[in-house]
Amino acid sequence: MFATRFAPSPTGRLHKGHAFSALTAWTAARDVGGRFILRIEDIDPTRCKPEFEAAILEDLAWLGLDWETPVRRQSDHLADYAAVVEALNAHGLLYRCFRTRKEILDAIGDAPHGPAEAVRPGPHAPEDEARLLAESRPYAWRLSLDRAREALGEQAWNALSFVEEGEGADGESDLIRAKPETAGDVVLARKDAGTAYHLAVTHDDALQGVTHVVRGLDLFEATHIQRLIQTLMGWPAPTYRHHRLLTGPDGRRYAKRDQSVTLAELRAGGLTPEALRTELGF
Ligand code: GLU
Repeated sequence: MFATRFAPSPTGRLHKGHAFSALTAWTAARDVGGRFILRIEDIDPTRCKPEFEAAILEDLAWLGLDWETPVRRQSDHLADYAAVVEALNAHGLLYRCFRTRKEILDAIGDAPHGPAEAVRPGPHAPEDEARLLAESRPYAWRLSLDRAREALGEQAWNALSFVEEGEGADGESDLIRAKPETAGDVVLARKDAGTAYHLAVTHDDALQGVTHVVRGLDLFEATHIQRLIQTLMGWPAPTYRHHRLLTGPDGRRYAKRDQSVTLAELRAGGLTPEALRTELGF
């Protein structure tokens, strides 16, 4: 059965861009009598706040959406993600990374191909790793693309792909070859959270039976590495529908960090959900 989801992070109030994304996913499910799942992606302990989670539920209900309950809140399931880290580790696919963000950025700055180079710091030398562990320094787990490629074999690596029913970055659609190299050796367990976005999102999409990932084009690139993780874990491949990003009157896309006007403010200003849905084309 068709199942899709809206998976916001409670790091701020929702804006029109979120409303568009949620309506796109919800409508896709409703049109085919499928499932619509709301998932709270709150693994970032510094940026996520319970009051934003409550506000998300309120804003989406105001918009006229409904969803399956109970709503999965990722921070309640950290043991699930730790088990995935363990499974990938059992296959030798991860390595510890003690480097700071600054060290990583400095290293990329010095790299031959400049700042655009994907982050692939590689494992520490065994003696350094032993010392850093003995000093109880915090570390992240990174996925080694080299080891993943070796584990899958060339044929399976070259066959990594996903079906795009929306539009890809260049308007691509149909079967798209996944290029995890562009993401680099991504962090799958952050120092502070024990998990990371790519791991939690792929785990939960598999667990919740998501058949169609409907989300904004800003996450199109993430799909490449997420397909690799799904393949390594033996999880099913969802179909993807990346949708265009809504832009505001100034032509810029809505974003929390730009203090885009929130749904709550629009509501306080008298906007009705009907008017907003019409404006957004639903
Ligand atoms: N939690 C992610 C975000 O708020 C979305 C994850 C996804 O749709 O894959 O950007």
